[in-house]
Amino acid sequence: MVNTQALSSDPALRNLDGMLPDLEALYRDVHSHPELSMQETRTAGLAADRLRAAGYEVTTGVGKTGVVGLLRNGEGPTVMLRADMDALPIQEATALPYASKATAMDREGKTVPVSHMCGHDMHVTWLAGATKLMADARTSWRGTLMAVFQPAEETGEGAQAMIDDGLFKHFPKPDVILGQHVMVGPAGTVAGRAGAITSAADSLQIRLFGRGAHGSMPQASIDPVVMAASTVLRLQTIISREVAAAEAAVLTVGVLQAGTKENVIPDEAIIKLNVRTFDAGVRKRVLAAIERIANAEAAASGAPQPPEITTIDQYPLNVNNQDAAKRVADAFRGHFGAERVRETGPAPASEDFGSFGSEWHVPSVFWFVGGTDPKTYAQAKEANKINELPVNHSPKFAPLLHPTLRTGVEALVVAARAWLPA
Ligand SMILES: [Zn+2]
Ligand SMILES: [Zn+2]
Repeated sequence: MVNTQALSSDPALRNLDGMLPDLEALYRDVHSHPELSMQETRTAGLAADRLRAAGYEVTTGVGKTGVVGLLRNGEGPTVMLRADMDALPIQEATALPYASKATAMDREGKTVPVSHMCGHDMHVTWLAGATKLMADARTSWRGTLMAVFQPAEETGEGAQAMIDDGLFKHFPKPDVILGQHVMVGPAGTVAGRAGAITSAADSLQIRLFGRGAHGSMPQASIDPVVMAASTVLRLQTIISREVAAAEAAVLTVGVLQAGTKENVIPDEAIIKLNVRTFDAGVRKRVLAAIERIANAEAAASGAPQPPEITTIDQYPLNVNNQDAAKRVADAFRGHFGAERVRETGPAPASEDFGSFGSEWHVPSVFWFVGGTDPKTYAQAKEANKINELPVNHSPKFAPLLHPTLRTGVEALVVAARAWLPA
């Protein structure tokens, strides 16, 4: 079991116990009212109301539904804390009493189930709690606290939308940008590292052009099915033959579509793939290899025109600044105790959080907060079945409310206080 008794008692955390019932109510409310990417108006409204009530200057509608709260509290550094707000088009299967029954219209006009299966409802609640505690304890620190509630992380658009909407122009440049994500891991613990923390992700579509014909006369065709099959197999040699053992990367073809009938050779085929990389050089090399292979396979088939390669979405590499990550880890160890602070490898998950720091040229730190029942986690580890625990985006992803709620609030406050002097 994890002993969740903190070692230090920051003045800002003194009111946390009393605030937990209210935060739990907020969490259940956001959980049962999830909103799809760029539709987070209700959630943004809740965040803005709470920031205003706590005394923040609030700007809404930044990058469509984003919310920025500023608490100017005298001379000192500026710390930006970020939470994402969007949910996913997934039918929740947790059986929680507050499980989502919501549906919404997606961008194609389809009605889809919606649920917080990535835990962004937890992120919203953490930031609401931390900003209130810091406001209540403003006599114990100085500087500026900037809270950013971001839309559309799941589509990779939200951070960029806020940046494009003038985030860097209208708000003070922070000295550090901090963010966190609930993940599989013992509840009550935090995990982080210096350097790359989440991978870059590139989703691409490759449209291969052939020439259709009757299935009985392949000689009249340029068969895009064979072209696509060959391309998929060759693409798998990029990671196995062109990326060194120490340079991790993932390439998954998730969509392979062609044809409508068994005796008709179609005109074209579609491949959709996803690439994860942890290094800018490796990313460039893998993307170039994909283009080279797609073009060469099309040429080998005698395709009437080269394939059309388009980007579906893109997430930047999320790199924790060395010094800032060390400062956060030291603060965490001082507060939580060393046994509750885990060192983790870079996660093959992706996040647009990294855009804020890399484009504003500000050091940023991102870490994970465990949300799994520690007993369940320990049993799964013992049985070598960690991979079978419900992860983010699973319809059964359900963070253990306590102590996950408290741990995330503590982590934000403790990390912010590492920059904001008394
Ligand atoms: Zn997600
Ligand atoms: Zn997420």
